[in-house]
Amino acid sequence: MTELRLFTQGIVYTPSERWAPGAVLVRGSRIVDVGPAAAFTSVRNAEIIDLQGAVLTPGLVDIHMHGLHGHDVMGPDLPRVAHLLPRYGVTSFVPTTLTFPWDEVLRRLEEMTAAWDRVEGGAEALGIHIEGPHLSPKRPGMANASWTRPLTLEDVDTLQRVTGGRVRMITFAPEETDAVRLLPYLRAQGILPVIGHSDATFRQVGPWVDLGLHMATHTFNAMRGLHHREPGVVGAVLYYDDIVAQLIADGHHVHPAVMDLLIRVKGPDRVALISDAAPLAGSPPGEYMWGSYRVVVDGETVRLPDGTLAGAHALLDTGLRTMIRTLLLPPETALIMACRTPARALGLPKGEIRPGFDADLVVWDETWRPTQVYVKGRPVYTRE
Ligand SMILES: [Zn+2]
Repeated sequence: MTELRLFTQGIVYTPSERWAPGAVLVRGSRIVDVGPAAAFTSVRNAEIIDLQGAVLTPGLVDIHMHGLHGHDVMGPDLPRVAHLLPRYGVTSFVPTTLTFPWDEVLRRLEEMTAAWDRVEGGAEALGIHIEGPHLSPKRPGMANASWTRPLTLEDVDTLQRVTGGRVRMITFAPEETDAVRLLPYLRAQGILPVIGHSDATFRQVGPWVDLGLHMATHTFNAMRGLHHREPGVVGAVLYYDDIVAQLIADGHHVHPAVMDLLIRVKGPDRVALISDAAPLAGSPPGEYMWGSYRVVVDGETVRLPDGTLAGAHALLDTGLRTMIRTLLLPPETALIMACRTPARALGLPKGEIRPGFDADLVVWDETWRPTQVYVKGRPVYTRE
């Protein structure tokens, strides 16, 4: 018999709707129904979870993250990462690569793939996000520019072979590639083409949108900026509705006023909050190695010794709080960007409390910190 669970007497964000007091009925791994608590009083044979006025939302979906607490997704530590993420309200994620020499990227991906089946009891890994080495050498961010290479059809095939077909997103600089052949090829394989670390001009981007380009990696960071006579990649992300803009919302990568501008222009259905968490995310201040990159953690950021930001120190729950507390956005808007928009971009039944969707749920305290987390209906985290 599949167990029935009723979460009731909470403030429920679906996230586009708010029910207070609201209730969510779950059977096994799926959501059955959601609505005002009064509509569920006749439910029988369910385990009742009384939320006592706490906030209940879908789990956060982080489609761009590299690791945390010293664990790198690019290798055997993937299960550790999955296990640690729920304490930050993250119930599913897309583990993301970093630029290394090609052979090393493939070797690390083999290790990640071998570890995949050991992911158990934590956040769900949704597929792999390749972010490097297919970057513009002119916009490498923290990456060693000499290790970048243009993305080719052959590289796509190699990546899918090495990972058992787990690649779901590729961030690349289309101007370095045969984009006219590559973009439809990626779409046909169910891989989301993501422009990023790109020095393309505004004029170049439009035709790529027509060919299936659908997202931009960490908008504003490591891409050609906006000039009023040459709008660049940033201008194209703002201009084209079909491009979903990833945004690192840690408060360090993008100024709050610019984050606010982006959200006002694109709307929450076209902005996906990401953490871009480095494997040193959440680690105490000090000097560390991220693979072969030396990085410095100061408690709020992760940087190369020259000051270049090297991924983020914060996880996605910090991004959510930044939206609510610094930008003063309604929780509905912030949650749409942290849950629904990224899940929709991947075409997955997640990121919303909606009948038939995965029961990935987070209970929050009044300061927007997670207290209980469920992945596909299973309790995976309870705060001490
Ligand atoms: Zn990244």
